[in-house]
Amino acid sequence: MKIIGIDLGTTNSCASIVEKGQPRVIPSSQGYLTIPSVVAFTPEDKLLVGYDAMRQSLTNPENTIQGAKRLLGRQYKSWVVQKVKQSFYYEIAEGKFGEVEVIGNNRPFAVVEIFALILRYIRQVAEDYLKDPEIRAVITVPAHFNDRQRTDVRRAGKMAGMEVARIINEPTAAALAYGYRKEVNKNLVIYDLGGGTFDVTAMNIENKVYQVLSTVGDTFLGGIDFDNRIVEYLAEKFERETKISLAEDRVALQRLRIAAEEAKKELSLRKEAEIKLPFISSGPQGPLSLEYLLKRTELELLTEKLVEKTLDTCRSALDIAGLTPDKIDDIILVGGQTRMPLVWEKIKNYFGKSPSKGVHPDEAVAIGAAIMADIITRGETGVLLLDVVPLSIGLGLPDGRFKELIPKNTTVPVKKSMIFTTHKDDQSSVQLVVLQGDSAWAKENELLSKIAFTGLPAKPKGEVKVEVTFAVDTEGILTVSALDKATGKEVTTQVSARAE
Ligand code: AMP
Repeated sequence: MKIIGIDLGTTNSCASIVEKGQPRVIPSSQGYLTIPSVVAFTPEDKLLVGYDAMRQSLTNPENTIQGAKRLLGRQYKSWVVQKVKQSFYYEIAEGKFGEVEVIGNNRPFAVVEIFALILRYIRQVAEDYLKDPEIRAVITVPAHFNDRQRTDVRRAGKMAGMEVARIINEPTAAALAYGYRKEVNKNLVIYDLGGGTFDVTAMNIENKVYQVLSTVGDTFLGGIDFDNRIVEYLAEKFERETKISLAEDRVALQRLRIAAEEAKKELSLRKEAEIKLPFISSGPQGPLSLEYLLKRTELELLTEKLVEKTLDTCRSALDIAGLTPDKIDDIILVGGQTRMPLVWEKIKNYFGKSPSKGVHPDEAVAIGAAIMADIITRGETGVLLLDVVPLSIGLGLPDGRFKELIPKNTTVPVKKSMIFTTHKDDQSSVQLVVLQGDSAWAKENELLSKIAFTGLPAKPKGEVKVEVTFAVDTEGILTVSALDKATGKEVTTQVSARAE
């Protein structure tokens, strides 16, 4: 059985493996190195995944599920889902347990099923290449993923018929790609600006120990925001000139968005990019086109604030880690948007040095995943990944507040125990609402589970003491167990349907 690495991205995914000591990306049979993380249903109800799915995004956007990673493991009512929903062309609904469902050809799918389809496709690519039907995988996830999202990735892997050997954080994978098999004793910053999210991780590598010092993210900052600035700019200009608004025209906006992204990428290489969209709309005088020569300087003016915002996040990450920019030995860039020259320039100014050229921003995570897979395959010891809890874990209190039990940025694995007592005579159960997030208010954090400790002995109030232990493993996954202090016996725990 072979172990591969999988970078499960918002926009694209990528499989990789170490062969003859060299990590490499596994190409698909058509020769592609990345696989769009897209699932689609044709009007004839055929299922498409990857490039084939991507191709119909223009003609059938309502049944093309893209960007689903932003919905994974979230509740429908969460502000994140409500916000991303507005920019999606496909329908999103609330499931029976408050979870998110996506609608494809009028049928509801759990987000984890969409991921299972993507992972099944990746498994197929790996199987074809390796000629091995049994695949295990190391899968990477964003550092800010909470317990539910990590558990869902494991579930999706299982549904795709793939054993998940380990889940590791994307920045940690990038650091492995950078430091593995080298004598590296350094402080690093991993600056990851992808399609939809931004994460900064401060890390120390010493003697094969990869210790995360802090990780701070912004779930709503990524390449898409850069595209949106261009779209807004051009749509406004178009409206000024023609008096026609494109706001309600989905197809026109989608075409404009694709053209904006293309132009943005071109402007990473050139000073000007031409945008040409014939027949984007029609007015009283007939069809109208949108044509514009966008300059790099204009793009920089439009997006400078976004880049500045990423530096604010770097500042917080360094503060938490107790570091200053001059203490950082190298900056690793991850994510396609880091190719923008302005991003480079601002990072260089802030840290006082150029980012590392040693790792490829698109492949670093996949390569790191392959390295981890190889470490597991060979049973290599000594390489230690010490990650942190990205968001505080705690309990919802009756007054609506959130009581933090394991603060964010605590190194994992970590265990914490608390004693709970009964408030009523003969109380036979205790219920806990376990949450994860940054807010002081329970309802603003993600619900992980509702747990009931049942079958407690009938005793006067306050006499039954239940010791509850919260343990977060190296993958950031939480388990809760409980003991009756008097008897030392495990108390029956009942985890209710998660998002009930
Ligand atoms: P990722 O999630 O890492 O694949 O990042 C994808 C994001 O990077 C998208 O928003 C792309 O538009 C952006 N991107 C890819 N290539 C470039 C480039 N050459 N210049 C600027 N942005 C890019």
